[in-house]
Amino acid sequence: MISMKALVFSTRKDEKSYLTNAFEASGHEVAFEEVHLNRKSAELAAGYDVVIVFVNDQLDEACLERLAELNVKAVALRCAGYNNVDLDAAKRHGLTVVRVPAYSPYAVAEHALTLLMTLNRHVHKAYNRVREGNFLLDGLVGRDIHHKTVGVVGTGTIGSVFCQIMRGFECRLLAFDPNPTQALIEQGVEYVTLDQLFEQSDFISLHCPLTPQTHHVIGQRTLALMKPSAMLINTSRGGLVDTKAVIDALKKGELSGLAIDVYEEEADLFFEDQSNQVIADDDLMRLMTFPNVIVTGHQAFLTEEALTNIAQTTADNLSCLEQTTSCVNQLV
Ligand code: NAD
Repeated sequence: MISMKALVFSTRKDEKSYLTNAFEASGHEVAFEEVHLNRKSAELAAGYDVVIVFVNDQLDEACLERLAELNVKAVALRCAGYNNVDLDAAKRHGLTVVRVPAYSPYAVAEHALTLLMTLNRHVHKAYNRVREGNFLLDGLVGRDIHHKTVGVVGTGTIGSVFCQIMRGFECRLLAFDPNPTQALIEQGVEYVTLDQLFEQSDFISLHCPLTPQTHHVIGQRTLALMKPSAMLINTSRGGLVDTKAVIDALKKGELSGLAIDVYEEEADLFFEDQSNQVIADDDLMRLMTFPNVIVTGHQAFLTEEALTNIAQTTADNLSCLEQTTSCVNQLV
């Protein structure tokens, strides 16, 4: 069997054994780097056929050009979103780009629910309070989710699963997506305009990709449409939310809670231990002072099933590329 030589960038401890197992079984050679891939670190890819990248690697024109000069043939994203790759530039430089379109929509949708329920029932506060022997209930009043209106922005793979989960709570489901899903309509999901969704929802969950159209879809104007009692959940991409606008809305009591797994400036912070550093990002630090804000560090995808599928699909993508000229998971 011909094998591909692959270099994994931004390697995390939690994923290494899954990737090693899948690549060994597929006969590909794999090496690991912890650094992010960008125009400077691209040099490390010399001698490799493929670079395997994640959400915070920066594959801009200069980085892709350098990879092509180094004779790298392909970029394999080990994630679904690809907003960090300049696809036009990849095409111009003759690089193939593949991704893992779906590995476990359940992992992300279930994390969105986890955040929603934690925020709504103040479990993050209760956890700390009880550990200090404080059993007071003040400030812990939540709301039944049952029969509430839930707005889902983006009803693709993950958003559809999230809709299914929320149907279990007998919620009214409002959705916005330029490509509505007939099966969801038949199950009672109502497609409305984005403004109607923001105006009517008690809980809003974002599941659309980050594109120029969706950048800062949550901003001053749209926050003003929301009920002051609304809670916002973002497990999609940080750039969907204008952080300064959301801080302003929280300060004024115009939004009842925010739970995010992604943050627009996460690239140099997330997936690393920053506990001995002074974090210079004032917006993130301000967000974390609010009692009604929860931040998790881009862990929505992090289940055993998802890690297994990511590693296997990435190895399969490489096998596919070495055997044929195109692959079903190919972006360019
Ligand atoms: P998908 O491609 O299956 O679905 C995306 C949906 O968004 C599609 O139905 C599309 O029509 C819709 N959409 C496109 N433009 C839109 C717009 N302007 N407004 C509303 N909807 C729009 O993708 P998916 O697998 O469901 O993933 C959704 C997003 O979740 C990804 O783009 C990624 O950013 C994010 N994600 C996050 C994690 C995490 O760990 N936090 C993990 C995986 C994916």
